[in-house]
Amino acid sequence: MAVAVSTSRFADALYRDRLRRAAEEAAARDVDALLVTPSVDYAYLLGYRAPALERLTCLIVPAEGGPSLVVPHLEESLARHELGDLAGDLVIVPWDETEDPFWIVRDLLQGNAMRAAVQDQMWARFVLRLRAALDPIELVEAGPAISALRRIKTLDEIDRLRLAARAADEAIDEIRTERFAGRTERELSARIRQLLLEAGHQSADFAIVGSGPNSASPHHEPDDRVIAVGDAVVLDIGGIRDGYASDTSRTVFVGEVPREYSALYDVLQRAQLAACTAVAPGVPAEEVDRAARRLIAEGGYGDAFIHRTGHGIGMETHEEPYIVDGNAEPLRPGHAFSIEPGIYVAGEWGARIEDIVVCTEDGSEVLNRSSRELISVA
Ligand code: ZN
Ligand code: ZN
Ligand code: ZN
Repeated sequence: MAVAVSTSRFADALYRDRLRRAAEEAAARDVDALLVTPSVDYAYLLGYRAPALERLTCLIVPAEGGPSLVVPHLEESLARHELGDLAGDLVIVPWDETEDPFWIVRDLLQGNAMRAAVQDQMWARFVLRLRAALDPIELVEAGPAISALRRIKTLDEIDRLRLAARAADEAIDEIRTERFAGRTERELSARIRQLLLEAGHQSADFAIVGSGPNSASPHHEPDDRVIAVGDAVVLDIGGIRDGYASDTSRTVFVGEVPREYSALYDVLQRAQLAACTAVAPGVPAEEVDRAARRLIAEGGYGDAFIHRTGHGIGMETHEEPYIVDGNAEPLRPGHAFSIEPGIYVAGEWGARIEDIVVCTEDGSEVLNRSSRELISVA
């Protein structure tokens, strides 16, 4: 993500712990060092978002020994400022314009290093130059090692996710009191983004408004369609608040709800609740997907639920674990993810209900609180 988002840092001890555990994850995978360029992973490990620019900034987390940070000389003061006391835990190696930072990385790796892992979104030019400079060290993906950490949220992180969810709920509650008929999807979407910001988001990243037949397209891009009485309207909104993502969907109906639509919605609502209720430690992720899918199929809409039930959420809107058929990974306390089944009847209408749910020691917590009932709007 290119958006610069300033987040309030957690205590330094948390980042020390993350760096230590990242090193353990590297060791467990026979990786000699993780190489992390500016990205959400970088922000996760160090607590600040460094600019992703053409000059190499690279955090090196070796399996053995302390971490180091290779930074362009002109950004050293920025890095030290942002890191605060944590800077004392890192060997900071500034490089000058005429130096080759990739050879500095090579020098910082232990002489017997065999394998290094590169951050998933590292720019191709950095990967290629690292590969040349580090030859014959093998380069592999750092994703699995870092995801092993990021997928389990601490209580502090869950607090932030809860506040982000509540802020999105506020926007949903407010928009449902407003008039829909006569406004375009685009107008309504802009209004929702404004409400997300007013509720405390730093960025309003998306505000899907799919009305009438567009409600049957899960990722519909709001356009100039004028919303009218008789439309189902799917709202799927979210952004970043204090470094953590919100993502919630609610469906409304403009005017009186036809019986056929309320029957469809009833199936969906029961399916969404069944999936939320299925969440508990040890339950395979795919079982949560099945809980929703079973009820939707029994309701006669099996072919109309055309996407997975959910995705993990944290500093990014979509991350692991994915709530999808084929993911047998057992849920663990600290997993946070969406539960968002939908029913889409092409050319007619659709509906989706999405909440963020956290797996806890004794079950689950649904972070969103706005009503899931089918609300009729003006
Ligand atoms: Zn989506
Ligand atoms: Zn969503
Ligand atoms: Zn989602």
